[in-house]
Amino acid sequence: MNAADTRSGSTEENAVDGGHLLAAGIGSAAVDLSFPIDSDHFRWRHERTVVDTLDDGGPFETSRFAMSAHAFTHADAPAHVVADGGGLETMPPTTWIGRALVADVSTVPESSPVTATALREARGDVGHDDILLIRTDWDRRRDIATPEYWSDAPWIDPEAADWIAERHPRAVGFDFPQDAAIRHTLTGRRGGPEEFVTHDRLLRRGIGLIEYLRGLDRLPGEVLLVAAPIALTGSDGGPVRATAFPATDLAMHVRRTKGEL
Ligand SMILES: [Zn+2]
Repeated sequence: MNAADTRSGSTEENAVDGGHLLAAGIGSAAVDLSFPIDSDHFRWRHERTVVDTLDDGGPFETSRFAMSAHAFTHADAPAHVVADGGGLETMPPTTWIGRALVADVSTVPESSPVTATALREARGDVGHDDILLIRTDWDRRRDIATPEYWSDAPWIDPEAADWIAERHPRAVGFDFPQDAAIRHTLTGRRGGPEEFVTHDRLLRRGIGLIEYLRGLDRLPGEVLLVAAPIALTGSDGGPVRATAFPATDLAMHVRRTKGEL
């Protein structure tokens, strides 16, 4: 079975309220949550080749680019961990666009787990229709251009992954390399499923993962998130320009008039 199909709810239930989104965007500053894709990163090679130039008198500059589907700020599809699990094109845009709640667990020490208790205390109200953003401020504590960004990082422990899975948000975003085993990717050691708990327990259930976010410290507790990846058929992941719009008084007004608050 396609892992994305395990999500309950009809298309209608998964619909995004356009009026609410518009209201949330009006008057609010966009916050860019993505890392720029640099060609000189020590882990993530990125090749961009110009195949047609304006210098030749032609009408266009045209280029090709190649890089890992899991480099820099990006989204994961179920195909990343499940054979025939569904590529990015199988996940509806509403997986990645909508109300997002920020769980501030930025007091977590380096090389330590983010626990279920910490998530519950930070964001016990997250539900099925939300996107959950887990904030550790790791992009401010270590430079993503250095190995210490991985070797010193916190991680989601198994109980915390289960807690998230039970609430089944549409997607979860992280500002740190979120599974314990990712810390070891620089040394070449491969961990088992118990060390890849977000991939194993969330992605398998069709919950989207948004990885390597930055700037979550600039957000209030509730935002409109726009973080849809490209619909690359069959792909296990793909780059995202994740952008947040802080919820405004107007958005609150719209929800209040609709009886949601
Ligand atoms: Zn990935």
